[in-house]
Amino acid sequence: MYLVLLGPPGAGKGTQAKRLAERLALPHISTGDILRQNVKAGTDLGKQAKGIMDQGLLVGDDLVAKMLDERFNNLDIKKGFILDGYPRTLSQAKTLDEILSNKKLAVDLVVYLNASDAVIVKRLTGRLVCSKCGANFHVTNMPPKAKGICDSCQASLYQRSDDNEVTVRKRLEVYKNEVASLIEYYTKSKKLYSLNADLDPGIVLEQVIELSAKV
Ligand code: AMP
Repeated sequence: MYLVLLGPPGAGKGTQAKRLAERLALPHISTGDILRQNVKAGTDLGKQAKGIMDQGLLVGDDLVAKMLDERFNNLDIKKGFILDGYPRTLSQAKTLDEILSNKKLAVDLVVYLNASDAVIVKRLTGRLVCSKCGANFHVTNMPPKAKGICDSCQASLYQRSDDNEVTVRKRLEVYKNEVASLIEYYTKSKKLYSLNADLDPGIVLEQVIELSAKV
């Protein structure tokens, strides 16, 4: 099952992707996570991406495509993947199809997690992320059991540098400029299903599982 999660920042793509990866025993591939790992490790890619990410803008298509192509060489994607954060533009959607078709693979299902701006801003500005396993928490909606500590792996939690209100609004604007053409592209290929991601993440998860069982 080659599943793509689309949706604005804060729609819950990361949270859903992690849970889906566990339930469906598939790797979770997040372009944002790979970029952040590169920033942390101080690689050339990370150095090029850091300033762009902090402004809420998109890292160059070529850089991200190369990074993804390399990730897809890993044999763990043999049975599928949960892709989160890619594609973000029509051009990336076409690139994804090309990269996969070169490997004799194709996207099976695209789930669009649709969330309202008010919910997104609240979720992201209160989001806490585990520095080790990447699990997400929220200061009020989903607080960790111990302040600042991950429930699953006990590592420290941090706030992403792009999760402040100004950058969140910029990320939303960038997203809205691109999403219509992406939706049109996947609607034409009859792979797109839209869900209300303002709902409780547990409900949304079951809806995605249901959809994936039909493919
Ligand atoms: P995310 O973790 O998906 O919210 O991504 C965080 C940031 O990483 C984005 O705001 C972009 O700067 C960058 N990024 C992640 N995925 C992509 C992508 N597919 N294309 C370009 N930039 C990306």
